[in-house]
Amino acid sequence: MDPLEKAREVLRQYPLCDSCLGRLFAAMGYGVENSERGRAIKTLLHMRLVYDYRNGIDATEDLKALGRVHAPTRRFLASNGIGMEEARCYICGGLLRDVEKYAEGVAKALEQIEFGTFQIGSVVPKDVLEREREIVAKFGIETGESIKHEINRRIGRAVGELLKRPANKERPDVVATVSLVDGTIKVARNPLLLLGRYIKLSRVVSQGKPVPGALKTVEEVLDPVRSRFGGPALVLHAAGREDFDVRMLGNGRPAVVEIKEPARYRGDLSGLTTDWVILSPLKPGTRNDVREMKAKSKTSIKLYRAVALSDRPVSAEDLARLKALEGAVVVQRTPRRIKRLNPRARRRRMVYNIEVYQVADRVLELFIRCQGGLYVKEFVTGDGGRTQPSVAETLGASLEVVELDVLDVE
Ligand SMILES: [Zn+2]
Repeated sequence: MDPLEKAREVLRQYPLCDSCLGRLFAAMGYGVENSERGRAIKTLLHMRLVYDYRNGIDATEDLKALGRVHAPTRRFLASNGIGMEEARCYICGGLLRDVEKYAEGVAKALEQIEFGTFQIGSVVPKDVLEREREIVAKFGIETGESIKHEINRRIGRAVGELLKRPANKERPDVVATVSLVDGTIKVARNPLLLLGRYIKLSRVVSQGKPVPGALKTVEEVLDPVRSRFGGPALVLHAAGREDFDVRMLGNGRPAVVEIKEPARYRGDLSGLTTDWVILSPLKPGTRNDVREMKAKSKTSIKLYRAVALSDRPVSAEDLARLKALEGAVVVQRTPRRIKRLNPRARRRRMVYNIEVYQVADRVLELFIRCQGGLYVKEFVTGDGGRTQPSVAETLGASLEVVELDVLDVE
């Protein structure tokens, strides 16, 4: 339907301010603010009705309907002896007239944070949203923009002018939510995500939670990185995991350092070197980077070094049999030491290569190249038959892993 006719129909039943009228036709031309579009529609409708009126068509009722929300029409009617009062906008009740007034408060609330990008959100009174829905449904409006969208955009633009940078919907560091119900402004600080790799030199530092035998966690060691950006907590997301007594060497393991609610979004991105953990230089990333890294770690290839102690001397013939394990698919029931997973679950992972050096009669050094997710300790020991095939079973000996290192994460 012709937008002018549609507007006439809507205004017959509902007084709407320039913004709320213009917003019903927002998709019919971008780059124009709704209030401007609404005013233009009203001006055109006014001209049409005055034209009809002067040509003897009775347009009085439509003129009165428009007059409720359009001053020139009220003046025209007054000059023809019809007095009219201005009516409040049915949808917003005047709320949209000056939403920009919140911009200063938002800018002030953001002042204490050193951030790069921001976004505006809003809480809009329920009855306003309901009245907007009512009109959109009743008149089959398909070209509208939501009132919330307009409010966020307009406050965002005004804040942007104050802060000299535009709002950013894609990757905001901070989100300021303005409540049009009670006028409060809440600021949410999004986490800062930093991509890097870490090397763990220690056998007493746990990658995950604190565990018996571990003196520290990697997160605790990385605390100086947290303090560079402020904020209450640092969380490490890694591509796979190693036990606390396993060193992570080589190029290190890909990881994302998450700083919760940072006070600063810009800061020192250099790495960190400690006796326990070495962190590579960092670069900012996104949630998507975390997802991708975690997905990739399930299939990426890992190289391990294990030192194993045998219960009996191992012969050269025994060792030669280990070549048969290259290319094997290892089936593993969940190791008994891992309680959080279903003990009956079965995991299948490939072993690509095995190199063995006999250090002493009963001491072996194994280099195992395998698919990510293989329980390597259990692959060596056999875990009481729960992992098959295994190094211990193939040698016909009982093995204990005394040292394990991750040498490479491809
Ligand atoms: Zn309105």
